[in-house]
Amino acid sequence: MLKIQNLCKFFEHTPVLDHINFVIQKSSVVGLAGPSGSGKSTLLRSIQKLEKPDSGTIDCSGSIGFMFQDFQLFPHMTVLQNLVYAPTLKNPKTDHLQKANLILKNLGIDQKAHVFPKYLSGGQKQRVALARSLMMSPEVLLCDEPTSGLDISTTLDVISLLASVRDMGVTMVIASHDLDFLTKIADRIILLKEGKIVVDVHPQQLDDPIHYLKQYY
Ligand code: ADP
Ligand code: MG
Repeated sequence: MLKIQNLCKFFEHTPVLDHINFVIQKSSVVGLAGPSGSGKSTLLRSIQKLEKPDSGTIDCSGSIGFMFQDFQLFPHMTVLQNLVYAPTLKNPKTDHLQKANLILKNLGIDQKAHVFPKYLSGGQKQRVALARSLMMSPEVLLCDEPTSGLDISTTLDVISLLASVRDMGVTMVIASHDLDFLTKIADRIILLKEGKIVVDVHPQQLDDPIHYLKQYY
C-alpha cells in the first residue's frame, strides 16, 4: 500500500529524516511515536507531498487523506460547507451534500452541520476535520497528533472514531506523542528518534508496550 525507501530530508544542514525505510500493508494502523522534533510531522507531510524529500522514494498505491494537527477548518464556512468545499472544486458537477451528511451522521456530528467552527468544542472540531478528510474517500489516512489538546473522554471518542475508520478498511498512519493512545489504536508502532527509525514493533506482542517504547525516548 505504502512503501518508503531511503527517504532523507534536511532542513538547513540538519537531517530531519535520515534513511527512512518501511512498507505498510493495506488496512493496517501504524502509530508514529517519538519525542518532539523527531520528524513525525515531517514524515507525514512528505508522504502527503507537502514536503519535498532530498532523496529516496515514496510509493503509494492509493489516494491519501490528511487530518491536520490544528484542524485547519475554514472559519468562514459552516461544517457542511467545509466538507463539500474541496470535493466541489475537484468535481463541480457532482452533488457532494448527500455524502457529507452521511459521513457527519456516521461520526455523530450531523447536528452541527450548519454551525461555524468557532462554535464547536475541540472534540467536535476533530470530528469535523476527520469527516472532511474522509470526503475524498482516501485509501490511506494520515493523522497528525489527533488527540493533542483533547481531554481524556474526548480522546477515548477519537480512539473509537479512528477504530471505525479502520474498520472501513482505510489504512492509517497516526503520529502522536501519546503512547497510551497509540498503543490502544495501532497494530504496529514505528518510533522515530532524530529522524531515524529506532523501533518497529507490534504492541500487542509486548507485555508492557508503553514501558518498552519509553526506553527509547
Ligand atoms: P515532530 O512532529 O516529531 O515533533 P517535526 O517533523 O515537526 O517533528 O520536526 C522535526 C525537526 O525538523 C525539528 O527539529 C524541527 O524544528 C525541524 N523543522 C520542521 N519543519 C521545519 C521547517 N519548515 N524549517 C526548518 N526546520 C523545520
Ligand atoms: Mg509534529
